Amino acid sequence: MDDKKDLKKLNSKQLEEFILENDIEKYKAKIIWQWIYKKYVTDFNAMTNLSKRDREVLSEVAYISTHEIADKKTSGKSKTTKYVFKLEDGSLVESVFIPSIDHSTVCISSQVGCAQGCVFCATGAQGFKRNLKSHEIVEQVLAILREGKNVDYIVFMGMGEPLINIDNVIQSIRIINDPNSIGIGARKITVSTAGMIPNLIKLADSELGVNIAISLNATSNHVRSSLMPINEKYPIKKLMETAEYCQKKSGRRITFEYILLEGINDSEKDATDLSKLMKMLISHVNLIGFNPSPDLDPKFVPSTKVSNFKNILLKNEISVTVRHSTGQDIFGACGQLAGK
Ligand code: SF4
Repeated sequence: MDDKKDLKKLNSKQLEEFILENDIEKYKAKIIWQWIYKKYVTDFNAMTNLSKRDREVLSEVAYISTHEIADKKTSGKSKTTKYVFKLEDGSLVESVFIPSIDHSTVCISSQVGCAQGCVFCATGAQGFKRNLKSHEIVEQVLAILREGKNVDYIVFMGMGEPLINIDNVIQSIRIINDPNSIGIGARKITVSTAGMIPNLIKLADSELGVNIAISLNATSNHVRSSLMPINEKYPIKKLMETAEYCQKKSGRRITFEYILLEGINDSEKDATDLSKLMKMLISHVNLIGFNPSPDLDPKFVPSTKVSNFKNILLKNEISVTVRHSTGQDIFGACGQLAGK
């Protein structure tokens, strides 16, 4: 493959230029693009509306990269499936297919590992290896589609902090969203961040129209910094001001994720303080149960006060949902992805 061009690394303009260089008419770039991104084909011989000569030329000069499925486990309870993909350099990343009654969601990764070190996350415990390229992000979705699954929603909540890898994430969203490609609507795509403020502004200014979720998890800088080191650089006040900017820019509510940890961030005062923060803008709170992992400090345990916490938010007229993670039995739930 060394001297062949991976067509997945090209954008639509570059694909046109590449096929022209190889004496294939420019208009056929759109046909090839659709075979790759709408029919998920990886073999030029399957592109039956191209001439035999075109297919032979493409096979000689190009290839379409895929992720090898290194491991795949399906949860007995929820039918959530965790995929471990092996990339061309041997790195492992995980994606999770989450079916529900009337739709399905794929949780995808943006980095190999993560440098942020959030204490409740197995990916953070693993450390950072590298950013994923945009085609490596898109291929996670294509590989799952190739398995015959329907994919309605995409969430960037797998391994890595998406906004540290903003350019590749934006490029991958453009392809996932493009009606000539996978065609998943921007409103069905959510980017979740630990709070990387400059690139949160960049994402809002890109006007992609995707949903933004901010992993908040505490209402004081003291507690948040102890859970999420990124808070030292981007503290709560600045984060909330940025969230307000994003909300005004998009006209859409911002989701805040709050993982409830027993005795750390689950008191009645925490719920009251969270309500005050949420009143600053149009927001929604997802309360998430903590998912233990062998890679994490055993002092962190799931809160037993979830319903009391939720009721305080409701009493303060805050929009709130309790999210029940699925896939704990296969270490595929929120915060459990560790590339193994
Ligand atoms: S929660 Fe997200 S940002 Fe924090 S360590 Fe895990 S992957 Fe990284």
